[in-house]
Amino acid sequence: MKCPYCAHQETNVIDSRESGEQDAIRRRRVCAKCEKRFTTYERVEDIDLKVIKKDGSKEDFSREKLKRGITKATWKRPISMSDIDDLLDDIELKLRQKKTSQVKSWEVGNLVINRLRKLDPLSYLLFASVYRDFTSVADFAQELERLQKLEADQATTRLGIDQSTVKPGVLDKEDQS
Ligand SMILES: [Zn+2]
Repeated sequence: MKCPYCAHQETNVIDSRESGEQDAIRRRRVCAKCEKRFTTYERVEDIDLKVIKKDGSKEDFSREKLKRGITKATWKRPISMSDIDDLLDDIELKLRQKKTSQVKSWEVGNLVINRLRKLDPLSYLLFASVYRDFTSVADFAQELERLQKLEADQATTRLGIDQSTVKPGVLDKEDQS
């Protein structure tokens, strides 16, 4: 890594951490000659893989694009960005291990779906509705409704417990004593 100030070839890493953005690693470096400090961002390249879409057309595999799709499907769901990143790491590893330069879009979709199912059933459905053909729209709507009802029941139960255990005014009294 060349020093951006004096172009000296030898620099030392003084700190290294995940940048939390776009899967980059942030490194603080110091030049061995002029001793100026600077920051570099290192990024892992996307896998060199073609995705074959349903209509037969091909496009480069893009982690960012897949991430956007998952983020959209899991919006408002209890899934964090780091959950999604872990999931993508897992999928990328699987894809890298494949001895092929192309993969069908539904294969990628299935990898995501199988992992989402374990994380959050509703997110799984939302994502699956886009990436996998449900037998019919009605089937999907029915399944979605079933899950939402289940969610609502759980929420009501939780609320019931909360209301019975939290007595209003208790905290106020404690503050006064
Ligand atoms: Zn320098």
